[in-house]
Parts: sequence; structure tokens; C-alpha cells
Amino acid sequence: MKRVFAVLFAMLLLIAAAAAETVVTSFYPVYLFTLNLCEGLDGVTVVNLAAPDFGCLHDYQLTVADMKVLSRADVFVINGADMEEYLAHVRGSLDLRTVDASGMGTDRSVALIREEDGETEFNPHIWLSVPNAKIMVCNIADGLTEAMPQHADAIAANRDAYLCRLDALDAELRGRSDALGRREIVTFHEAFPYFAEAYGLRVVAVMATEPGEALSARELMDLVREERSLAEELGYPPPLFVEPQYTGRAADAISAETGAAVFRLDPCVTGPADPPLTYYEDVMLQNMTVLEEACGGDR
Ligand SMILES: [Zn+2]
Repeated sequence: MKRVFAVLFAMLLLIAAAAAETVVTSFYPVYLFTLNLCEGLDGVTVVNLAAPDFGCLHDYQLTVADMKVLSRADVFVINGADMEEYLAHVRGSLDLRTVDASGMGTDRSVALIREEDGETEFNPHIWLSVPNAKIMVCNIADGLTEAMPQHADAIAANRDAYLCRLDALDAELRGRSDALGRREIVTFHEAFPYFAEAYGLRVVAVMATEPGEALSARELMDLVREERSLAEELGYPPPLFVEPQYTGRAADAISAETGAAVFRLDPCVTGPADPPLTYYEDVMLQNMTVLEEACGGDR
């Protein structure tokens, strides 16, 4: 009898193992959304492909280890909107079920902002507006449901609960951004146009479009000149916003020359490997606290 149970138990384990699903995400923001949707799903593992400290995927190259992870994926969730350019090179060699969170090219697409002089057609930093994040969550939920129909009810419940939290986040961000005294910001990476559009800010200059790009003395002087002319136009030097993922040396140099204050906005592309489910909300609220400090005062 004992033996029969042992055999049955072993068979159950095998069935459980066979039913296990691996969801791979391309990078951090999509990882955060997918973790929320897969919370509590039996046998479903979410794996983030890019290291949690890698940042945006603008120059990402797939490694052999990445290809192995992808070959075992039941579904691959990407940001879309030109963020995962590397996929163009492996499309033919990988048989992969891909879910594009941006919905680009479908009637469920986020409203994309064109890049002015970037290397891609659209600006890919879509997740930094909460209305866009909600569309992404719905698109990911649809893709996951198609790939794992046995979890449809749980995914739908997770989606609805998360959308409620994102609505509350959006309302709070709108309320607090309405009360900001000033609207003009200068950034160092083309990451914030969607955020600015959603919350009534104006990105008056992007000082360097490539992350981590080293600037020559001459380029730095050009940026100082630009900040000075903005200060003249606005009547004050607009605050400079660096990101935790990139060095702030150029900002410090411009600040020393112009008196502009330096602050830090987080585009939520890096974070702990095992983040709390509220991590995206936490980062967005912290960004608003920084903006209040930088742009507060009477309108
Ligand atoms: Zn970026």
C-alpha cells in the first residue's frame, strides 16, 4: 500500500513539473508588471532576462546564457515600442511566444511619442506614465492568459486588483503634480517625455541622449551655454535631473557653472532582484516627492 502511494505521489510530482510554466520578461519595468499578474499562480515562475541593475535595453546584446533562458521560456514578455531592438536579430532562430506590452500596431497600443533625433522611431520609455502602465498590464494579462489558459481566472483577478492600485497611484500623482509651482525640467536621458505629458511637466532640454556618454570639455561648455540661455528665458535656471543608473558628472559641472540645482529621478529600470510588488508605485511616488522639492513653490 505504502508503495502504491509512493508511486502515485511520484506521478503527481511529475504532472506538477510538466505543468510548470516559465514566463521570461525582457527588463525591469515589464518584470514588475508581470510579477504582479503572476502572483500566487501555481507552478508559474517569472524570470527577468536582463540583470536587475542593467537599466534600459538600448544597447543590449543577447548572450548565450540569455538564449538558453529564452529557449526554455513558455512566453516572453517585452516592452515593445522599439526597446528590444536585439529581437530583430534572433527572430528567425528563436521559436518564441512573445507578448508585446506596448500593443504597438494593434488597437490596444499605448499612444507612442516619436523620437526627435533618436536611433529608433518611437521613444520606448512608455511605462513612466501610469495610464500607459495600465494599458501594458492589460496587454500582458491578455498574452499570459492566452499562453496559460488554465490560470485565466487568477490572472484576471490579479489584473483587476493591480489596475485599482494603479488608478489610485495616477490620481495621487495628478493631484500632487497640479500643485507644483514650476513645470520646467532638464534631464540627461530621453526617458521622461511620457511622464512629463501625463503630469503636466515640460522637458526643456535633454543634455545627453546616450546613457553613460562621456562629454568633452567643449560639449560640456555647450550644455552650460544651453542652461544659461534657458535660465535667461525662464527667469531661473531650470533644475537638472540625473538618474541613479547614470553618473551625474555632467550635471554637477553644469550646476557649478550656472547655479542650477541637481536632483534625481528614477526611471524604474533597475531595482532589487526580489522587489516588493509595490515597487513601481513606490518609485513613482518618490519621483513626485523629488519634483515637489525641485519645482515646489507658488505658481
Ligand atoms: Zn532609456
